[in-house]
Amino acid sequence: MIRFGPSGNSESFYNAGYKSSVDMPKWLADMGLNAYEYQCNRGVRIGKEASGKIGEEALKHDIFLSIHAPYYVNMASPEEEKRENSKKHIIKTLNAAKWMGAKRIVVHVGSYSKVDKKWALYTVKKGLSQVIEEADNSGLGEITICPEILGKNNQLGSLEEILDLCKIDERLTPTVDFAHLHARGQGSLSSPADFESVLDILENSLGKERFKNLHCHFSRVEFTKGGEKKHWTMKDIQYGPEFSHLAEIILKKKMEPVIICESRGKMAEDALKMKKIYEKIKGGI
Ligand SMILES: [Zn+2]
Repeated sequence: MIRFGPSGNSESFYNAGYKSSVDMPKWLADMGLNAYEYQCNRGVRIGKEASGKIGEEALKHDIFLSIHAPYYVNMASPEEEKRENSKKHIIKTLNAAKWMGAKRIVVHVGSYSKVDKKWALYTVKKGLSQVIEEADNSGLGEITICPEILGKNNQLGSLEEILDLCKIDERLTPTVDFAHLHARGQGSLSSPADFESVLDILENSLGKERFKNLHCHFSRVEFTKGGEKKHWTMKDIQYGPEFSHLAEIILKKKMEPVIICESRGKMAEDALKMKKIYEKIKGGI
């Protein structure tokens, strides 16, 4: 089943008087959505009890859960201490995922702004292998680690790099952020064919099984020469890419991905817009 949901909590959720993410699963299900990416962007601060409550609600309302690991993770840092701490943050995120019953965690693996690109990729591969080993030893091996394709040129996270990284363990699955791909490619996703060629590469590299249920991020994006600048909403049509182009290829390839919307402030509303675009195209075939 294809799934749609937001990254974090929409402004409208708080405007309606809600304060706790425990209320998100029901709120999303009432809207007609069925996925939720819980944000630990600024640190894994959620405890076992709160995680468990979100998990119970998600199960009750059929919401697929994932967690976004902290942004400051950098497994390619020139400082060993930062690399070690980054691994700990990923393990902490996996722990929270286990409490919550989240199936996937999304990780920005690192940046090569201060280091050699080859060294960075080698170091991240080594670090990630160690994380996987520790996760297996701690009973966290069932949760899928999803390294994300990143939008800035100085971040370790091109399509090729992330696919290379996913070769170290067959459980690793990329988070394909189409806004980031579009920004990194200076507007490279401007037609259904552009999306198809990216998805062909992913399918060939990952194999059918991992490809079918891909983890995806989508929003409109503004970019500069350095890549990603700012995420926008579905209404900001001066920015690409177009979700309808992706929806067409998802249907053509019979995929059942999880689509997480990262629109600024309106992630749930826009996830619903995307779901409706998808259903409209599906109905027209
Ligand atoms: Zn991300």
